Amino acid sequence: MNYDIIFTGGGAAALMLLYKMSKNETLSKKNILVIDKEKKDTNNRTWSFWTNQKTDFDIIVHKEWEKVRFLAPQIDKTDRLTSLKYKMIRGIDFYNFVNAKLSEFENIEFLQAEVNEVKSISENEAEVSLTEEFGNKIFRSEYVFDSRFLKEDIPPKSNDYHSLLQHFLGYTIETDEPVFDSETVQLFDMRLPQRNAVEFVYILPFSPTKALVEYTLFSDELLRNKELYKVRLESYIATKLGVENYKIEEEEEYGVIPMSDYKFEQPKAKNIIYLGTKAGRAKPSTGYAFLRMYRDAKCRIEAFQKTGNFHYNEKFNKQFETYDSMILNIMERDPADIQRIFTDMFRNNSIEQVLLFLDEQTNFLSDLKIMASVPPMPFLTSIKNLVTGRKGQRLHQRLGNVAMVKV
Ligand SMILES: Cc1cc2nc3c(=O)[nH]c(=O)nc-3n(C[C@H](O)[C@H](O)[C@H](O)COP(=O)(O)OP(=O)(O)OC[C@H]3O[C@@H](n4cnc5c(N)ncnc54)[C@H](O)[C@@H]3O)c2cc1C
Repeated sequence: MNYDIIFTGGGAAALMLLYKMSKNETLSKKNILVIDKEKKDTNNRTWSFWTNQKTDFDIIVHKEWEKVRFLAPQIDKTDRLTSLKYKMIRGIDFYNFVNAKLSEFENIEFLQAEVNEVKSISENEAEVSLTEEFGNKIFRSEYVFDSRFLKEDIPPKSNDYHSLLQHFLGYTIETDEPVFDSETVQLFDMRLPQRNAVEFVYILPFSPTKALVEYTLFSDELLRNKELYKVRLESYIATKLGVENYKIEEEEEYGVIPMSDYKFEQPKAKNIIYLGTKAGRAKPSTGYAFLRMYRDAKCRIEAFQKTGNFHYNEKFNKQFETYDSMILNIMERDPADIQRIFTDMFRNNSIEQVLLFLDEQTNFLSDLKIMASVPPMPFLTSIKNLVTGRKGQRLHQRLGNVAMVKV
């Protein structure tokens, strides 16, 4: 029952780190147990991200695009990216690829079971217990990497921070007639009524007749029922795409991602480390997490090589934390403003520059240029709210230069 390392949760974040461990001479010899309640054998999600860097997963990129489109009532803009590429990986390809690599190691075991609790019992020992259904079994290890995102991990509503949700339903559809430009990702079509939420449709086209079409909302509540997402998605396909006949391929993609500037803390015990969404890796203002989890996995391996443990000093970029809080503040207050802000941001900057900004790869001067290209009022109100401490206790102290320059 004893291992060197246990992973509770074997989804994206855990598998990325395990993949990196399998490439490390010392770590690949450790006795590792991966516990997940699901068998990772379905295409339960797709991961998209944009980058100009290599990743370990380039070989399984399903499709990549160099052109990106933004639509809103007053704008229809398509740009060719210069250094970045927009990439998509299918969940099933990711699981199969990583699991094939890990199956080469007899010292890495997988267990399909539900974890009940993870706790630290001493400085160098942690304990994982399974639920009653799995015999309350107990395992011990030196380290536990925990990526189970539980209901109670969703930040509760509070006056100290923002807590919104990104929720979406997508179909992969095959049409009779060619309707999609397979060269161009449609990042946002915001030509939708913004009904107390930021609403848009995202399209990843695989061919002129096949695409993932996803109806997405940023808001503080989920819609009443799943049917409503379907009705709105189907209405978009009929009215905006003008498609009547299509087949739905694969499973529909439904998801909920937290969008919050709440500080997701790591546990006090040094031998339990949170990963993925549980560790706040989803970017508060966009929900994108894939590259952020990948960068975390790289840092943990580098830390291990240098110090023999997996801890590193995370450099939180205060500037981007501030922008995230300001954007969340606007989303919460008046989601329709986001449509206007995004319209100006995409109109007045290259899409590449906006994508770099959203991935926190820009410098302060570029950020200022982007901030100066959007209507100032909503941001000024956000700054006021954050500075006066409403919805910004943590940022209150720090706003300093970033916000004041804008003022
Ligand atoms: C549908 C969907 C699409 C997304 N698309 C993108 C995208 O395009 N780009 C992007 O950057 N981000 C995307 N995200 C956000 C983020 O990248 C994903 O949520 C990602 O899977 C997070 O990785 P994770 O390891 O934290 O969680 P997961 O991949 O969900 O892994 C957590 C694992 O824990 C397991 N688990 C939970 N509770 C228990 C328990 N009690 N016992 C045992 N196991 C348990 C679960 O079965 C799961 O396998 C998407 C999210 C969703 C939901």
